[in-house]
Amino acid sequence: MTRPLFATHEVSNQSPPFEDVDLFTLDRLLVEAVAANGGAGAAKELSEFGRHWGSAAMAARGRLANENPPKLKTFDSRGNRRDEVEFHPSYHELMAHSAHAGVHNATWTEEGKPAGAPSEVVRAAKFYMAAQVETGHLCPITMTRASVAALAAQPDLLAKTMPVIAQRAYDPTFAPWWTKRGMTLGMGMTEKQGGTDVRANMTRAERSADGYRITGHKWFMSAPMCDVFLVLAQAEGGLTCFFMPRFAPDGSVNALQFQRLKDKLGNRSNASSEVEFVGAYALPVGEEGKGIRTIIQMVQLTRQDCAIASAGLMRSGLVHALHHARYRSVFQKHLADQPLMQAVLADMALHVEASAALVMRLCRAFDRTPAEAGDAAYMRLLTPAIKYWICKSAPPFLYEAMECLGGNGYVEEGILARHYREAPVNAIWEGSGNVMCLDVLRALSREAEVALAVLLELSDQTEGLPGASETVAFIRKTFRRADSERVARLAVEKLALLAAAAALNTVWPRQAELFAATRLATPHTGMYGAVELANRDIRTLLERALP
Ligand SMILES: Cc1cc2nc3c(=O)[nH]c(=O)nc-3n(C[C@H](O)[C@H](O)[C@H](O)COP(=O)(O)OP(=O)(O)OC[C@H]3O[C@@H](n4cnc5c(N)ncnc54)[C@H](O)[C@@H]3O)c2cc1C
Repeated sequence: MTRPLFATHEVSNQSPPFEDVDLFTLDRLLVEAVAANGGAGAAKELSEFGRHWGSAAMAARGRLANENPPKLKTFDSRGNRRDEVEFHPSYHELMAHSAHAGVHNATWTEEGKPAGAPSEVVRAAKFYMAAQVETGHLCPITMTRASVAALAAQPDLLAKTMPVIAQRAYDPTFAPWWTKRGMTLGMGMTEKQGGTDVRANMTRAERSADGYRITGHKWFMSAPMCDVFLVLAQAEGGLTCFFMPRFAPDGSVNALQFQRLKDKLGNRSNASSEVEFVGAYALPVGEEGKGIRTIIQMVQLTRQDCAIASAGLMRSGLVHALHHARYRSVFQKHLADQPLMQAVLADMALHVEASAALVMRLCRAFDRTPAEAGDAAYMRLLTPAIKYWICKSAPPFLYEAMECLGGNGYVEEGILARHYREAPVNAIWEGSGNVMCLDVLRALSREAEVALAVLLELSDQTEGLPGASETVAFIRKTFRRADSERVARLAVEKLALLAAAAALNTVWPRQAELFAATRLATPHTGMYGAVELANRDIRTLLERALP
């Protein structure tokens, strides 16, 4: 289509949209990190996924799903309760595309057992790419995938639900889960008086003829159109995990009454509800009184996904910034050729390299657990540390990426404003920053020898890197302190940095050196570009980030 020219001016010196690209093949770091962690055989499948999710059509779906947020329909026109949430068609399309690619189930067999290597790494690469396009819909996708780990505590329920969960299909109809082509699961733990402290849950569960009846509330319960929720409630034997479907076994709508949807900073395409349970039907998952132990299996996986998604958001911020800088001229020179902008972008690229290497290394640990004891220990100790560091680094990173685009970065037509609003939530939910640090301390105190073995392995893998041995000594000393809780952030951040340097060193030794020199030997100021990198390293980092 030829557009009429404006009488006064034509648009020039602007970058074209970064669309219709292969998010996999174009991302050398991802290709190499996937291969280094056992996923080389999936390159073709990932490239197909990358082309599809990198298309202009998917970008439009992401934009539309966020510009048209979900609406709660509490009642119908005659005053009957409906308790349904309506989403824009683009949201359903995003869900369908993720489900067809198995992002919600590919790490499980049809029986609900771990699918084995390299399913975690391959699925993580898809999650990483999808997060670059639209993150809100990934909330039910990640919860569905993670719920299987908790359902494992109740083999009869697992056996009944897996035939539906294992379908690579998305079925948005509001109908009983056992009649559907595919299903999604959410989780309800947080109440008004406590999210971290779930032991304070007041929601009660009473035995009934057909199972349990749950009465109480949840203050945050996302993706309310999921078919089933795993919820915590106080039963006679203590806090217990329950399987609460949207429909009771007789086919009637279960007694979940949605009060309102949260008005959120970001994550707009996803609905997050406040809900009352009015004697809602539910079945126990695992032993009564062991609710935390049961649901923590699910939470461990959602924490892993928070880190992957935040790394994906930062990757998107980096490529949009770099792409723009290669087209935009200032003072007769492209931004990408201005030494100061190069320093900023290269330092950002180094952060993304480290984040990608680290999340893929973590996913390899998930792939090898429980067969490999060392990987199981790595997963246990480092999941909270990695979630802490990567998720908390995403908001300032995305702010810097926006600034690279100048004013264009700040407006809502571009994707970076949306990414920026999205970024903090991954640090807040599924265990906020301090909670992650306390979790690392818990792993250290409960399994001190195992944790020490992980640290020693990281020490071996980073031998000779600038600042590595001092970092190892600092971590050991700080975690041994009687007041380790007060200084936990110091040590947990260093632990994540050390693990990132180790992950980089096994794949890209030069980047590991640069990372260690700018993050271990001297603390990073938090301002990107405030480090000294040689010109040839800058060129390599930028060329690798976006060929
Ligand atoms: C968009 C969105 C969607 C959500 N969806 C869901 C959902 O689907 N299901 C669900 O169950 N929950 C959901 N949540 C809730 C979320 O998981 C909680 O908000 C989170 O766990 C924190 O709990 P809280 O809000 O009660 O804060 P609190 O538990 O009061 O914590 C407040 C702060 O105190 C810190 N803190 C806590 N304990 C300690 C300590 N011992 N020492 C030092 N600091 C501490 C925390 O790190 C945090 O920074 C959602 C939240 C958001 C924002």
